[in-house]
Amino acid sequence: MIEIKNLVKHYGQVVAVDDISFKVKEGEILGFLGPNGSGKSTTMNIITGYLPSTSGTVEVAGYDITTHPEEVKKRIGYLPEQPPLYKDMTVTEYLSFVSDLKKAPKSKKKSELSDIMELVGLTDHRKRLIDNLSKGYRQRVGLAQALVGNPKVLILDEPTVGLDPKQIVEIRRVIKGLATDRTIILSTHILPEVSMICERVVIINKGKIVAEDTPDRLSASLSKIAKLNLTVKGDKDKVLKTLGNIPNVRYVTMTTKAEDSVFKYVLETGSDKDIREEIFYKMAEIKAPILEIRPTAATLEDIFISVVSSDGIKHTEEE
Ligand code: ADP
Ligand code: MG
Repeated sequence: MIEIKNLVKHYGQVVAVDDISFKVKEGEILGFLGPNGSGKSTTMNIITGYLPSTSGTVEVAGYDITTHPEEVKKRIGYLPEQPPLYKDMTVTEYLSFVSDLKKAPKSKKKSELSDIMELVGLTDHRKRLIDNLSKGYRQRVGLAQALVGNPKVLILDEPTVGLDPKQIVEIRRVIKGLATDRTIILSTHILPEVSMICERVVIINKGKIVAEDTPDRLSASLSKIAKLNLTVKGDKDKVLKTLGNIPNVRYVTMTTKAEDSVFKYVLETGSDKDIREEIFYKMAEIKAPILEIRPTAATLEDIFISVVSSDGIKHTEEE
């Protein structure tokens, strides 16, 4: 349904998208996952025809976005990062305006809009001014405008960003409900999101695709990651540096301060080698007693960190 080949986008000197290719099959929900600044929005803006690419091609339902932009645009519903909502309109007025813009058939407008509002849970808010809606309800309006004209492809850019946990759960449910007869690309920088909604995940970092798999198989590759929780007494910078220098350690973070000069760390290694003894001797060398060492289960998040940090971020610190 969607085919992206060798897509490149430069903003002046900045290479935002660096030769990415992927396909999305009809009816599939693809998670497009990456940290902030990795090129997700740029890619989505190109797929939807809002930005020209520097090179590469995008086809939707067999139509090329540069040669047949109208054919592509009428098949796509787009929820951009900042949907252009007119705040002095009511929900119904705004959606009616969008319907006219998209040249949707007038005769069916009323029933189409009320179906959409029902689907995204806006019926009770249809007469409210958009300006008076909570962020979660505005996001529903954003989703609703994407659905006007019944496009078979939905491009959703971080649909849950800025919402509170309850709103996130509701929006996710709405999106899952939309998926029955549509092809969806959904971007996010939060990993659990894709495992809940998506069938397949493409991970992008610094404009390049670094992994592509099902959430299940990503989980399976987790079994190759071993994680240790460590509590050590002593200077934390010294401990971090020493742990980071152990060859099998992929990354190490200080998580919390337990008590005076006692800190907790999480470190990740390959599961092929047990390095607990080595850690013991290294900590003994710097006279930093280990108070606890405990293996822990890796999460989907860890794949992301390990993929993203494979280009040199070995030590990171959380507050
Ligand atoms: P994401 O959506 O994953 O956060 P973006 O696609 O917004 O990433 O940005 C990718 C890179 O391109 C970032 O380095 C960002 O600073 C840069 N960028 C995005 N938009 C512009 C722009 N209009 N002009 C210059 N650089 C931009
Ligand atoms: Mg973005």
